[in-house]
Amino acid sequence: MIPNSTAARDVAYLLHPYTNLSAHRESGPLVISRGKGIHVYDEEGREYIEGLAGLWCAGLGFDQERLVEAASRQMRQLPFYHAFGGKVPDVLVDLAEALMAIAPKPLERALFVNSGSEANDLAVKIAWYVNNALGRPEKKKIIARRKAYHGVTVMSGSLTGLAYAQDGFDLPVSRVVHVDTPHHYHGAEPDESEEDYATRLAEQLEATIQAEGPETVAAFIAEPVMGAGGVIVPPRTYFEKVQAVLRRHDVLFIADEVICGFGRTGNWFGCDTFGIRPDIMTVAKQLSAGFLPIAATLVSGPVYEALVAGSDKHGMFGHGNTYGGHPVAAAVALETLKIYHEMDIVGRVRRVGTALQEGLRRYIDHPLVGEVRGLGLIAGVELVADKASRTNFDKARGIGAGLVRRAQAHGLLTRAMPGDLIGFCPPMIIDEAGVAEMLRRFDVALEESWSAL
Ligand code: PLP
Repeated sequence: MIPNSTAARDVAYLLHPYTNLSAHRESGPLVISRGKGIHVYDEEGREYIEGLAGLWCAGLGFDQERLVEAASRQMRQLPFYHAFGGKVPDVLVDLAEALMAIAPKPLERALFVNSGSEANDLAVKIAWYVNNALGRPEKKKIIARRKAYHGVTVMSGSLTGLAYAQDGFDLPVSRVVHVDTPHHYHGAEPDESEEDYATRLAEQLEATIQAEGPETVAAFIAEPVMGAGGVIVPPRTYFEKVQAVLRRHDVLFIADEVICGFGRTGNWFGCDTFGIRPDIMTVAKQLSAGFLPIAATLVSGPVYEALVAGSDKHGMFGHGNTYGGHPVAAAVALETLKIYHEMDIVGRVRRVGTALQEGLRRYIDHPLVGEVRGLGLIAGVELVADKASRTNFDKARGIGAGLVRRAQAHGLLTRAMPGDLIGFCPPMIIDEAGVAEMLRRFDVALEESWSAL
């Protein structure tokens, strides 16, 4: 590393999130200096397609003058205010109204926070608060799924079902129960249909609730399509059957829409795609197209009424962050939603998503590819050592990381996820030509990985 370069100073001063720290000390960072459209550029000016929209968030790409203007207008007008104690910045009311106009039924109200992790943490706190208010203080356990990703705070990190996010941190904490990942490709019996597999998973959920005691289970949390766990699309009828079990035991459904929200799956929300009627829902990332941190926890009418009852009992609803619903972030989110409407984001994702899904499915016969999955503008390609037995390369020889490095050298940034899954979640402004170019760069990296074996 060149002394005093950005890379050298990075190694000297930064502690990197989700990074192998000793390897990073040797290799240093890829320094990104600017962005335009679906591209970002490193400090030498090399161009990359951002195949994962940064962290699944830059839905409108990396330059949007309208969002810059919305932020600077709001900064001049009212750079900070809050919603504690009954005050409110006006822009936050506009944002809440715009969000509720598209939110799935029966959601009615939103509390704004700063990140997906905080939103999920709050969702759990709400589930607990509601059950205390309803006089059932023992109903507190939360059921999550293995391979889920819900964040990094002590509770959202506990809901997460990925070892790499928990090892060394003494997570998960108690009150969290994990059930099976709904992944037909690996989880189903030979010849088991998607519907039968979904029935079996719902029966497992029922058995888990019975074993824990229905009177102790408060909520079930799920991403409609699992993101960081490996872009896992649930089997047909899964959520319908899961919801029937939850209703039977009065267990709240928390939908984590942090990745799926705002068009990504070809509907406004993943809940719309899968017929989910959430009691609580969390959003972040594409709410502001990643331009500023803002997130929210949305609640249904009955949940809200229970919160009101709790607030009467305790004197207030005792939750809030200094920067939750920050007016500048709210102004950017409001403008983001306007842009989504104007560009018909749902129609666009369906159209361009078809090109992505069809383009990737052409790889299904490739000797390294076990499964291609996804919908809308989120997709994944799973690499396998043996197609017949569906076994991945072992951990040490996993080839996803190598493929990602090769893709980077060819101008495509993406990520290898658990199970050697290469993820695609490009900015939703990508067009068919952009998809074709992204797949061309992936193709080169895949062929290089194949010939290197
Ligand atoms: N939920 C899901 C589905 C996510 O993908 C993420 C982040 O990737 C989170 C929650 C946590 O969000 P944040 O990183 O903003 O805390």
